[in-house]
Amino acid sequence: MSVIADKLKTIQDEIAGACARSGRSEKSVKVVVVTKTAALPAIQEVIRHGFVDLGENRVQHLKQVADEVRAFLADNHDDPSIPDKVHWHMIGHLQRNKVKQTLQLCKMVQSVDTLRLAEELNTQSHKLGIHTNILLQINCSSEPQKYGAPVGAAGHLAEQFATMPNLRLVGLMTMAPLTMDKNRVRASFARAREIFEEIHGEHIAGAKFKHLSMGMSQDFQIAIEEGATMLRIGSAIFN
Ligand SMILES: *Cc1c(COP(=O)(O)O)cnc(C)c1O
Repeated sequence: MSVIADKLKTIQDEIAGACARSGRSEKSVKVVVVTKTAALPAIQEVIRHGFVDLGENRVQHLKQVADEVRAFLADNHDDPSIPDKVHWHMIGHLQRNKVKQTLQLCKMVQSVDTLRLAEELNTQSHKLGIHTNILLQINCSSEPQKYGAPVGAAGHLAEQFATMPNLRLVGLMTMAPLTMDKNRVRASFARAREIFEEIHGEHIAGAKFKHLSMGMSQDFQIAIEEGATMLRIGSAIFN
């Protein structure tokens, strides 16, 4: 087995374990493979293993890697073992002047944390004649983080995002605080889950509001135990 295949297997076993511990179906958890540190051959191998949801945090790099991946898929069009297409997720801070370019590449923008950014995404989606799936990024850690809407603003922002005709608010995204303290990590995921349930319960965004994107290489098992439906994993696969 190659190194990448080995790591993917380990991660899948750990996901299965965390799902079993928390009485969840493995199908309820999707992995977004974060390619920001990866070389193209490694990304190709991950795709060969059937992972088709890929994430990037910088538009510039997203464009480059998405082009390379598109060429790889086109070259292997006749190979039934390789998926026909992949779906890109923007997971990092997004400047409004990069919105248009991002929308041309991405299926989902996970890092929407201000009204102004949502408005620009809506405007540009309208111009492109598309509907864009977005997640509201919230900051659930007890310490101030640079990005993510404050918890207290989440409900109101969700209401505003839900009224924008070319956006579909499909869930929440959060990042754990940078700490080795697993209890604090767990507490921030639990908080995100509460806010997710609140917004879901108020029927602000309807039945399509179903994704809770949390958990990275260091903490995805805790995230699953606290209700994550989407994990964003990079270094555990590629480093
Ligand atoms: C880099 C990144 C990840 C993946 O982190 P790893 O620790 O490499 O798994 C997930 N989410 C965001 C927003 C990132 O920037």
